[in-house]
Amino acid sequence: MHRNFKMISRIVFGRGSFSQLGEILRPFRKDPADFFVYIIDHVFCAHPLWDRLPLDGRDLPLAVDTTDEPSTWQVDDLTAAVRGHADRLPAGVIGIGGGSAMDLAKAVSLLLTNTGTAADYQGWDLIRNPAVYHMAVPTLAGTGAEVSRTAVLIGPEKKLGINSDHTVFDQVLLDPELLAGVPLDQRFYTGMDCYIHCVESLNGTFLNAFSKGYGEKAMALCRDVFLPKKNHPPEDAGDLLMMASYFGGMSIAYSQVGVCHALSYGLSFILKIHHGPGNCIAFNQLEAYYPEGVREFHEMLDLHGISLPVRVTRGMSDKEMERMARVALGLAPLWENALGPDWEQKITLDDIITLYQRM
Ligand code: NAD
Ligand code: ZN
Repeated sequence: MHRNFKMISRIVFGRGSFSQLGEILRPFRKDPADFFVYIIDHVFCAHPLWDRLPLDGRDLPLAVDTTDEPSTWQVDDLTAAVRGHADRLPAGVIGIGGGSAMDLAKAVSLLLTNTGTAADYQGWDLIRNPAVYHMAVPTLAGTGAEVSRTAVLIGPEKKLGINSDHTVFDQVLLDPELLAGVPLDQRFYTGMDCYIHCVESLNGTFLNAFSKGYGEKAMALCRDVFLPKKNHPPEDAGDLLMMASYFGGMSIAYSQVGVCHALSYGLSFILKIHHGPGNCIAFNQLEAYYPEGVREFHEMLDLHGISLPVRVTRGMSDKEMERMARVALGLAPLWENALGPDWEQKITLDDIITLYQRM
């Protein structure tokens, strides 16, 4: 069966397009009591961007702490705050930030129309009712969260997304000006998330012409940004990176990520290492699986003077190490994409533990 997946309904791209936000939302304000919820990364408190939010009437801006990756309980708290704000659903939820703020916005928009807690919906196609209108405004580029059908959350038992057609944003606003001010190491780590999406998609067994088309373009854009000719980054690097993120997300929409993301999910769930750095720490050990990609990754690390965290798994007990390896091994679709339908014959818990021990 070929997948028939949902896409974003509307998209605006361009420097300065953030100024159009109020205009984009206006048609959804049908009644004076209608309001919007802004889920905005806490880095923008006391930042000029906050003053540019087109707040009106009973709009509710909620600054979200992204020190830790988004969790199901954080989604439940935010959903309760929105419910407590008014006796009606908001006209929409707008997520402004990196993958964390965007995933929180997706999840809150879903939980407002679906009963229970966010943890109930971690998995595939468990959501029953459409979300309220929701929109993404990325301020960090690479995760592809702006285009994907998942909202990745740390839950009580696992790190797993709320994967559904209803998760997909209704509107995306891509304004490369919003990337200004991202710290260089963070820009690199999140950018490498995109590069690794491409490597895993293009080397995966699920690859088809759709994911190849998007993946190759995203990879070329990543190279333009992170391995520029004559070591001179293009002036429009932010524009290129935003499109790389989008295309990289489109590539994995029809394929899957692979070994690196499986290992990174384990690092994140057990050691609380964030997705971008976690991917880089894992990818650094994966020459056997992705030789070309890892070689090029090392060139990028050198060129940008990034020193990866080392020995992050040192001092872990055997029990914790095994738990982490089980989290990684449990992500069957990722292994199947990476190693093929007989993946269970090709990777063992001990192999994963050996890789983790090198990190
Ligand atoms: P992030 O959203 O966690 O943000 C990282 C840091 O950058 C934060 O401290 C944030 O405050 C800061 N930041 C964001 N924008 C900034 C700006 N313009 N200027 C200065 N600082 C800024 O990072 P991320 O890498 O974009 O997202 C990681 C999250 O995304 C993880 O939780 C991961 O699981 C998730 N993810 C989701 C998907 C998906 O498809 N839904 C895909 C990949 C990753
Ligand atoms: Zn990723």
